[in-house]
Amino acid sequence: MIILRRIPGTRAFVTGAQRDGHTVGLVPTMGALHAGHGALMDCARAACGRVVVTIFVNPIQFDRREDYEAYQVNLDRDFAFCEQRGVDAVFAPPVEEMYPEPARTFVEVSGVSQGLCGEFRPGHFRGVATVVSKLFHILPADRAYFGEKDAQQLAVIQRMVRDLDFPIEIVPVPTMREADGLAMSSRNQRLSPEERAAAPLLYTALCRAAVVARDSQDPAAARQAALEELARDPRFRAEYVEVVDPLTMEPLPRITGPACIAAAAWLGRTRLIDNVRLPAVAASQHSPVGEG
Ligand code: AMP
Repeated sequence: MIILRRIPGTRAFVTGAQRDGHTVGLVPTMGALHAGHGALMDCARAACGRVVVTIFVNPIQFDRREDYEAYQVNLDRDFAFCEQRGVDAVFAPPVEEMYPEPARTFVEVSGVSQGLCGEFRPGHFRGVATVVSKLFHILPADRAYFGEKDAQQLAVIQRMVRDLDFPIEIVPVPTMREADGLAMSSRNQRLSPEERAAAPLLYTALCRAAVVARDSQDPAAARQAALEELARDPRFRAEYVEVVDPLTMEPLPRITGPACIAAAAWLGRTRLIDNVRLPAVAASQHSPVGEG
């Protein structure tokens, strides 16, 4: 596995692999790698001749400075993780390589970036779309893998790629969960042991909403069910629960086709997000945990 720090060598690695006849799969991450990231790498490994992971904590997507500063990445540990998963190269640029000067050009994906996390994290998706555009130029891969865990981010990137004609295929990967249902996240490590024990309630609430949604097709009833569930633990502070179209992120007036029930909630000082998809959940009627 090779470790790349600079843009020219990284681009040369990708274009060289393609010249040699390989398809290249890209897995963008912010490090602090866990099995959720591992699932993206495995999908890329199964479908691509060369797999490149990027590790970059992108300052321009953080709406709160303390969140950026608290983002703990141990590069040596992450490199070992990638090596074990059979990754061919890791691009882990220093911040000056990505932003030698303050960014003055931004990519804004309107509509799909609004609402949900977009409402509570101003500038977040602009920062995400901008850095992902940069990565797609630096690493002109054939496919890029993104987790459904970050449903709105996935929708923003899919829309950006369509609107700006990036020659790359976006591959969504289902959410990896801990045994108790909690969606894996780098932020979970910030939870105290008591908070960690309480954290699966977010997924429980979404599963309950999914059952109500399936039975009633009524987004308001589904939302209400999730909020009631979250209210059972006073340490949770719900930010939003919404039933949206998974491609446009627009709230659905009625559930008649594919839907995503997405939520964000604070647990102590940690902000958790999660979502479940319909009818994927409805298909596994009594065990939404099977959703992955
Ligand atoms: P992050 O390092 O948090 O920016 O995430 C990098 C990529 O990993 C994104 O595409 C995320 O959606 C994806 N990801 C994070 N957590 C999970 C998970 N639990 N299951 C699947 N994908 C995930």
